[in-house]
Amino acid sequence: MSKENQYLPSYLDAKDPGPWGIFLEQVERVTPYLGDLKKWVETLKHPERSLIVDIPVRLDDGTVAHFEGYRVQHSLNCGPGKGGVRYHQDVTLSEVMALSAWMSVKTAVVGLPYGGAKGGIRFNPRNYSKAEVERITRRYINEISTVIGVDKDIPGPDVNTNAQTMAWMMDTYSMNAGKDCPGIVTGKPIAIGGSLGRVEATGRGVFIVGVAAARDAGIDLNGARICIQGFGNVGGTAARLFCELGAKVIAVQDHTGTVYNPDGLPVNALIEYANEHGGVAGKPNVQAISNDEFWELETEILIPAALEGQINKNNAAKINARIIVEGANGPTTPEADDILNDKGVMIVPDVLANAGGVTVSYFEWVQNSANFYWSEEEINQRLETIMDNAYNTVSATASEHKVSLRTAAFITACTRILQVREQRGLYP
Ligand code: NAD
Repeated sequence: MSKENQYLPSYLDAKDPGPWGIFLEQVERVTPYLGDLKKWVETLKHPERSLIVDIPVRLDDGTVAHFEGYRVQHSLNCGPGKGGVRYHQDVTLSEVMALSAWMSVKTAVVGLPYGGAKGGIRFNPRNYSKAEVERITRRYINEISTVIGVDKDIPGPDVNTNAQTMAWMMDTYSMNAGKDCPGIVTGKPIAIGGSLGRVEATGRGVFIVGVAAARDAGIDLNGARICIQGFGNVGGTAARLFCELGAKVIAVQDHTGTVYNPDGLPVNALIEYANEHGGVAGKPNVQAISNDEFWELETEILIPAALEGQINKNNAAKINARIIVEGANGPTTPEADDILNDKGVMIVPDVLANAGGVTVSYFEWVQNSANFYWSEEEINQRLETIMDNAYNTVSATASEHKVSLRTAAFITACTRILQVREQRGLYP
């Protein structure tokens, strides 16, 4: 086995390890900064537990179909596992492993008492009825119930799963346990223990770290220009909050097109329009520009809040922003990251910038445990404190080691995880 593949588990393709290979590379990059903790770094390269389950389900037409499901617990050092469940036809074990590892990093960056986990089912829910998706969800939770638990591993929503999916998961687990277990999942509807502020939390977190980054870069947000790709939950919330502070959102791109106004778009009206029409394209009284032009606009802050890999070697060199705040997961490819770092663009990385969602999920879980529910104001205040502290820690680490915020976020997170590893020691 070649040196670069020596850490690959036998069940992954050594020639094409997929997203898990990217995570291993990131660990390699951060290792020189871990000092004495280097001796524990192998811990990060081996997920603690990877479960593959068969999900046999009776379809509406009476036939039985089998689906493949996963739950990976990358690290349970710092607390119970935490991470969403993704429903997608392209989900692979490698992807779920990498996503679970990135959850370990994300929870450690913001200092939550969690480890990292992730789940998935390899299917396209759009091809199945609501009743079929419910049965698939319930059987999946039943199959992984041996490894999850309120104090063991707490799933949440991810791509193609939502509050309804979480309600089915909570109900199935509670039925099996013979008691109400609201803390088994987060992202639930409010009526069954969901948290106020959860829907807005990720966009609000993007806003909080964006404000801190602008301060450090010497940018006055009053009148500052913002460009946003992705105008859903994350992008829409961030747009609204930046505007409330006096910034102007000059361009928005979603899957339907790009709209532009150098004097600032009417954000609230645009959100309403996108909700009604399925996207921003066609909004009257604003200029439409091409998707390529979007990336070249001169702006103070650029927020990718749509999909992974959107900032890549094809557009990175043309980007004319001072700060990029990554609302999406993995929006910048490693090559683009290098190009932008060389250009001096400050990038607030996803593991820090979009951690507001998992932070309020943590609040939801705490409220479920205490059976005592907080006001939205209290939640937003606590979120701001956690995000600000995390940003300041990562920023100080970046200055200390003269590295990018992304490398600093990995140094911060890996140091925390491995310090706990060292303190807990090995069993037996
Ligand atoms: P969403 O479904 O509410 O919105 C997605 C937006 O992206 C939509 O406006 C859509 O039109 C746009 N989009 C899709 N394809 C596009 C394309 N090809 N080009 C341009 N725009 C496109 O999703 P969301 O919850 O806002 O999540 C956005 C990103 O943030 C995702 O990467 C997600 O993984 C990440 N994220 C979300 C949360 C959360 O709590 N919602 C937490 C952490 C990370």
